[in-house]
Amino acid sequence: MQLTSVEKSSQRKKSDVVIVPFWQGKSKPESACKEEEFSKWAAQPIRNGDFGAKEGETLLLYRTSGKEHRILLLGLGKRKPCLAENLRKSYASAVKALRAKKIKTANVFLPENELLSEEVILRGAAEGALLANYSFSMLKSDSGELESQNALSHLCFVGVDRSGSSCLKKLHVVSLSVNLARDLINGNADDVHVDTLAAFARGISEEFSTVKTTILGKEDLERENLGLILAVNRGSVRDPALIILEYQGNPGSKDKTAVIGKGITYDTGGLNMKPTGSMETMKCDMSGAAAALCLVQAAARLKLKKNIVAALAVAENAVGPNSYKPGDVFKSHAGKTVEISNTDAEGRLVLADAFSYIQEKYRPNRLIDLATLTGAIVVALGEEATGLFCNDDTLSKELMKAGDRTHERLWRMPLFPEYKEMLKSKIADLKNSAGRGGGSCTAAAFLQQFVKEIPWAHLDIAGTAYLSDAKGYHTTPATGVGVRLLIDYLEHLEA
Ligand SMILES: [Zn+2]
Repeated sequence: MQLTSVEKSSQRKKSDVVIVPFWQGKSKPESACKEEEFSKWAAQPIRNGDFGAKEGETLLLYRTSGKEHRILLLGLGKRKPCLAENLRKSYASAVKALRAKKIKTANVFLPENELLSEEVILRGAAEGALLANYSFSMLKSDSGELESQNALSHLCFVGVDRSGSSCLKKLHVVSLSVNLARDLINGNADDVHVDTLAAFARGISEEFSTVKTTILGKEDLERENLGLILAVNRGSVRDPALIILEYQGNPGSKDKTAVIGKGITYDTGGLNMKPTGSMETMKCDMSGAAAALCLVQAAARLKLKKNIVAALAVAENAVGPNSYKPGDVFKSHAGKTVEISNTDAEGRLVLADAFSYIQEKYRPNRLIDLATLTGAIVVALGEEATGLFCNDDTLSKELMKAGDRTHERLWRMPLFPEYKEMLKSKIADLKNSAGRGGGSCTAAAFLQQFVKEIPWAHLDIAGTAYLSDAKGYHTTPATGVGVRLLIDYLEHLEA
């Protein structure tokens, strides 16, 4: 989709439709923008009670003159309190209403609200519209049904000055990377596997001289003793890999943030196999890796002045004659031996090896991991928040703020020392699963044992990466969570 802006209303070009926002108002809807041109068209439906301007409410009107022959009245709900997230939802609803009518181009008016900065208003409206214009239909055969064909092709935001226009460009770039993550997650597990992710990573470094890709294949992993990734992947017909993308956005600085993504391209649970009802969505178990990959793509496109080392710990937890077995012990890259008490607790194994390898070879200043790690975090927080486990209050606060700005909300969970005790093994240094109670916390406690003396944040995105159903601007189950969050975090990072 093309995204443009004009400063003045008179500069806007002809378009299929114009989106005009309204506040709910005390007794009746009130125009949310100064533009007078539309009041006479809105008056009748408002008088008749056909349009109440509730959040996300839309009404399509027709006129015979003007730059657009259609007007979409868009309800924003109450002026106070209105947050960026309310605008995301409303503008997403407008885009979906237009897509349903196969409308292609729109001029978009923004609300005025003295309680919100222009940037917040633009961010809410543009992100909602951009994210809601996404669809995933490449697995459908009926081309007449293809939702992607109903996507808007051009949006022009009206009343946007120069700084707003560059902000808009940035939002567009980031949303494209979110959509790539969504494609990778929504795609068949048989199509999006280790070679696919490696090809995308190589493609990014071919496109940007600031990105260097290194891929550790099976033999490299054997030579470097990443025994846990190798164990997890043993049942698969494909090889595992550690895919590393180094982004140098600030070559003058030594500061570097490591972002490590869990990349289980399919998780059957292994020999501790998942039951029906728990396995069907498990192509999403590489959501963390997809986010780490797409984060680098967005950072490179934005020329973000930060250094990142992203690592995708890629394996498939499959069942086969060579699958790793519960009760057996494997040696990690860090040297610690791990008793496999449950083969379905594989994410923490591949991450542990990636943690210690990346810390040893790249010496990052902080480490953030993204992982669809535990069903227990979904029990605790539902699909509304990502679980945050963090050994550093500053890092935790900065990530929480980024979570609020992007509405990829985080909720901090405990790392009590007792959780570590629960992972003691009689035959090895530790075991990989401590059972049901506090399942997300013991998973985090496992990871913590592979973190050296640096700030570390673990983001358990099992509830937020892949929704049970499309919702609002998340038009498909895959949300691409983590990309917007970490771009925002890195932008605000003072290092
Ligand atoms: Zn699993």
